[in-house]
Amino acid sequence: MLELKSSDIRLDADAADKSVAISLIVADMVADGMVAPGYEAGMHVRETQTSTYLGNGIAIPHGTPETKDQVLKTGIKVLRFKQGIDWGDGQIVYTAIGIAAKSDEHLTILRQLTHVIVNDELSERLHKTEQVAEVLSILKGEQFEPTLHMDTHLIRTNVDIQYVTEAISLAASALFAQGLCSTQERDELINSEALDFGDGVWINTVKTTNSRPALAIVSSQSTVQEASGPFNILLSLTSNGKAHKPLYDRLLQLQRDGKLSQLTNEKNADKLLRLLKMEALEGESIEIRLPIEQGLHARPASHLAKLIKQLNADIWVENLDGNDGAVLGTSVARLIGLGFSHGDLMRFTVTKCDDPLSVLHQLSTAVSEGLGDEVKPITATHSPQILPTAVEAPAQESVEYNEKISGLCGAPGLALGTARTKIKQDFSYPENSKDRPGESHRFQDALHQLSKALNDSLAQETNEAKIQILTMHIELLDDPEFVEATQGFISSGKTAEWSWMSSVEQIASSLEQHSDALLAERASDYRDLGYQLMMILTGQQEQLTDTQPHIVIADEINPSDVVKFDKNIVQAIVTAKGGVTSHAAILARAAGIPLLVGCGPIVLNIADGTPLVVDCDNRFFMVVESDSALDDLREEQAQRKADYERAYEDRFLPATTVDGVNIEVVANISSSSQVEDTLEFGSEGVGLFRSEFLYMAHPQEPTHEQQVAEYKAALDAMATENQPLIVRTLDVGGDKPLPYLAMPQEDNPFLGVRGARLSLLYPDMLKRQLRALFEAADRGLLRVMFPMLSDITEWRAIKEIYNEVADEFPGIQLELGMMIEVPSAALMADVFAKELDFFSVGTNDLTQYTLAVDRGHPVLSKQADSLHPAILRLVKTTVDAAKRNDIWVGVCGELAADPLAAVILLGLGVRELSMSQTAIPQIKAQIRSIDSSEAKALATAALEAESTEAIRALDRTGVTA
Ligand code: PEP
Ligand code: MG
Repeated sequence: MLELKSSDIRLDADAADKSVAISLIVADMVADGMVAPGYEAGMHVRETQTSTYLGNGIAIPHGTPETKDQVLKTGIKVLRFKQGIDWGDGQIVYTAIGIAAKSDEHLTILRQLTHVIVNDELSERLHKTEQVAEVLSILKGEQFEPTLHMDTHLIRTNVDIQYVTEAISLAASALFAQGLCSTQERDELINSEALDFGDGVWINTVKTTNSRPALAIVSSQSTVQEASGPFNILLSLTSNGKAHKPLYDRLLQLQRDGKLSQLTNEKNADKLLRLLKMEALEGESIEIRLPIEQGLHARPASHLAKLIKQLNADIWVENLDGNDGAVLGTSVARLIGLGFSHGDLMRFTVTKCDDPLSVLHQLSTAVSEGLGDEVKPITATHSPQILPTAVEAPAQESVEYNEKISGLCGAPGLALGTARTKIKQDFSYPENSKDRPGESHRFQDALHQLSKALNDSLAQETNEAKIQILTMHIELLDDPEFVEATQGFISSGKTAEWSWMSSVEQIASSLEQHSDALLAERASDYRDLGYQLMMILTGQQEQLTDTQPHIVIADEINPSDVVKFDKNIVQAIVTAKGGVTSHAAILARAAGIPLLVGCGPIVLNIADGTPLVVDCDNRFFMVVESDSALDDLREEQAQRKADYERAYEDRFLPATTVDGVNIEVVANISSSSQVEDTLEFGSEGVGLFRSEFLYMAHPQEPTHEQQVAEYKAALDAMATENQPLIVRTLDVGGDKPLPYLAMPQEDNPFLGVRGARLSLLYPDMLKRQLRALFEAADRGLLRVMFPMLSDITEWRAIKEIYNEVADEFPGIQLELGMMIEVPSAALMADVFAKELDFFSVGTNDLTQYTLAVDRGHPVLSKQADSLHPAILRLVKTTVDAAKRNDIWVGVCGELAADPLAAVILLGLGVRELSMSQTAIPQIKAQIRSIDSSEAKALATAALEAESTEAIRALDRTGVTA
């Protein structure tokens, strides 16, 4: 935010004309060390390009991008000209706001100015007041009425509610969770009476002193019959001053037009907001991202407004990444007021027009060309992260031997071989050319060659996946818009290469913004075509392919590369970037080439010839010391394979130690559909059903029927009635947000409202889950457990909610357990044990909270091995407390699937191990191979060990090997 001081404002400036006025402004800037004198020329040039007059007597003179280097420090100078200065076209300026800015900081003040420009009374005061303080306050935005904050995060539609009071609590919680009301205001809202506005629309309000009054909306799945009338949707407002007025006016308008039912019928949050902000626009529309680096500042805004005025139609403009409604695009001020930044999504809607498509085409062309400003490709920084881990890791010099570098599995498989880096081709080319017909011809020619090459490959291809992708690439290349965009650049004097790369980047980067990962990954198809055509245009040859078997290392892999790879030569592919749903991944799966994507830039430091193990099934690769180490690994691999095959054959045998101690080995699942598979791997039930995945699989909270069906299906899939299903109640927050649930913005979400704490914030949601569980309970052996409890008072609050629901189901008793995943829960296990039936240790979280290492940390998480003496000591505390209170303990974190840890956990007294299905046969075989006294000795030694390394060095009798 620019800091505007009283000393930046001059109320009594006097100038004969615009040119002198600008000189005065620059003189003040120079005197203050904001700019060098050369900035003045830039300001004059800017006025010759487009007038900086904004409206209502205000202008914002500023320099050109070429004179940015004359700016020494960003700032503003405000000069008032009482007599008025003719700024051109008869527009008289009383207040000139000179801007010296290197980047887009000035946009903030421009946005604030739009409120002045559209407000006659405020503009008048700005021009006339004798108080510098008042000018300051007007420009700083302190005199604006706050506007009502409306945002889709505050909307929940289609909720299964029984009473209006439930909607009221949900709306109040949503406002509170977003920091838009105080605790007291939340309670007032909850206790306020909602008014029936008619047609199922209800409203409740509370006055707030918050400068951001806001609106939350909750709509019901079906009509709720209340004594005073039917209820469908609640608008819950915190109001300050007149902020709510436009909304009330809009509601009255909808009521007058008999259209209130549109609100109750609309289930899409975006559309609901549009309905409330303005009349639903009916007309053709187009959406495009703004490619201007500085955002839609005054100059491109006036360029756009000028174009819109010429287009002979009503053209509405919206910022889909902003919070305001549509504005008519003829006003520069209103356009600036939409606050477009680089990469924001603009929507143009055309009404009252004979040829809307041509109008939209002209608009999109003008925007994509930058509205007279420089365009800057919209990069992935705007887009959702497709690569979850790797790219954020700090660059490392080299990879350590045997260090596991994690990635994502693009195509499964294991490979042992040597690295060969695929060099990314660099293209250098000039931007401008005078030979427009020549460039156009070169482009057409290259296009023709590429199209022919793709068609030839297609004619020879027999693999279905490859055929589909080649066909799609041919279609993309044939897209007239894509080709026309390039020809458009060429006809403006650019080279074929520059034009082609700009069109490719424009389309690829706008796709990359897409929140749908599948669509976002189509960007790589465009870039692949871009690359192939550039190879032709620049006359470059592909690298010669190696004829020796090797593992390809690349920054990113193109579908066209994978098509060319021979499975007998390319043993695996490892990439720094990329996603698992890319076409390159689909092709690698089809070709049977293991592909590990998203491993981060570190992969690019691997020298050719380095021996590597690429294990896509376990999502990592590692560098080994030598070829002979690779040979040893091959042997070990063969041995492990044989062991696994044996264990798999015996998978249905129980996990009973040599001396007859039995351990229950069960599975972790995230959907009922997995139960059958897990049983096939020898699982004896389900030790952890992560029920949050059921919630995440739906766009709204799953209905009662959907929840009941899921739990029943899981129980029905069990082989016998004695196989248990342990359902963990909703565990979101931390790294698992639920898109439709308002959650507080937190600096440390893992230390915030997650798991049971979130259930306490949304008790009705927990009740609905518990009701569904009770209803499914008669189908088998159902147990329920609660995540993230850290204190007995939390448990008692949860238990109270549970009891309320249990009262509705007399005669049904469920065993209740809790996750031990916070150190305080382990340390206080003796207190908890008196009130629960079992414990399940979540070692994943217990490790992150005990060792203070974020489990998702791109670098540190590797250090967080759960087989740490500190974790084992907490497990022991838990088991001892459980034994004293006659309850049992299981472990459902990843540690349970570690063969050495499984023995130690058994030795500590754990009676159930729950893990992902593939580990089950091996863990069962491991337990069958030992004696419980061996396990106890090992556990004792592990508890006394000083580090993870010391534990891993123990042999199975507890002696350091
Ligand atoms: C755990 O924390 O160990 C656990 C099993 O829960 P989740 O991994 O789902 O957080
Ligand atoms: Mg956990």
